Amino acid sequence: MKAISFEFHRPDSLAEASDILVRYDGDARVLAGGQSLMPMLNLRLVRPAAIIDLSGLAELKTIEVSATEVSVGALVTHSALEFSRESGVTFDLLRYVAAGIAYRGVRNRGTMGGSLAHADPAADWPSCLLTLDARVTISGPDGTRQMPISDFIVGNFTVALRPGEILTRIHIPLLNSEAKWGYYKHARKVGEFAEAIGCVIDDDARGIFRVVAGAMSAPSVVLPGLTKDRQQIITLADVRHALEEAAPSVEGRHIHFHAVAVMRALQLGVRP
Ligand SMILES: Cc1cc2nc3c(=O)[nH]c(=O)nc-3n(C[C@H](O)[C@H](O)[C@H](O)COP(=O)(O)OP(=O)(O)OC[C@H]3O[C@@H](n4cnc5c(N)ncnc54)[C@H](O)[C@@H]3O)c2cc1C
Repeated sequence: MKAISFEFHRPDSLAEASDILVRYDGDARVLAGGQSLMPMLNLRLVRPAAIIDLSGLAELKTIEVSATEVSVGALVTHSALEFSRESGVTFDLLRYVAAGIAYRGVRNRGTMGGSLAHADPAADWPSCLLTLDARVTISGPDGTRQMPISDFIVGNFTVALRPGEILTRIHIPLLNSEAKWGYYKHARKVGEFAEAIGCVIDDDARGIFRVVAGAMSAPSVVLPGLTKDRQQIITLADVRHALEEAAPSVEGRHIHFHAVAVMRALQLGVRP
């Protein structure tokens, strides 16, 4: 099957992209890497009157590092992150996660912003960025606004974008140089979407110990009650309990599977 016919726009500025989006009154889609949008178009799961190609917006393709955060443009590809030459623990984690997404062709075109805007619960960036407590910047007809990832992704394939709005940047607080992380992705075949994700950050200097479960039947969640107490060893039962509390919609028979993925992330400790 092929896509229905649509108008095609390639704006030169964010303001122009937003204007075009508003003009189509909800009947246009922005195109980033096209790795989810193109299949959806070809299967006619979406039938927009117009496609707005963001590839002309150079400002969305930069990675900017300050003393406290890394700001990733929405159009930065998985490959650009995989091969980033920036040093530091945060980039170690970003490189590791990027390298585990899909296949070379998908990584070369798929973008961090597209992944978040698509909000597939099985995708890697939502879990990783929730663990990193990232924020997003959104630009639209009423100006720009920021929000945490946890507010941006409101459900499976559902985000908090309003009509005419475009996700422009992802802001990731930098981890301390002594911080540790663990990321475990269970997929039946290398290059496939995850069936379970566990992600852990242990940053003593900033007082952060955060454990996230993802690739469930619901969006990724921070697991409550799993605090860092050196006397306490987190058990599988603890993780199961936290999952039942944080993700009540996940079927009981799947809880064990997701709890094991989280335990593996906890055990991985430091990578690389
Ligand atoms: C075979 C295959 C395997 C894959 N495996 C994995 C995997 O293992 N892990 C994983 O995480 N992902 C995986 N993906 C998804 C892929 O990595 C892309 O991240 C994802 O397809 C979306 O990114 P994109 O840039 O291609 O967005 P697009 O396909 O261009 O857009 C997706 C949606 O987001 C909207 N959108 C895009 N950018 C913006 C923006 N800046 N502002 C507002 N809305 C926007 C579009 O309108 C569209 O609705 C896989 C994809 C394929 C085809």
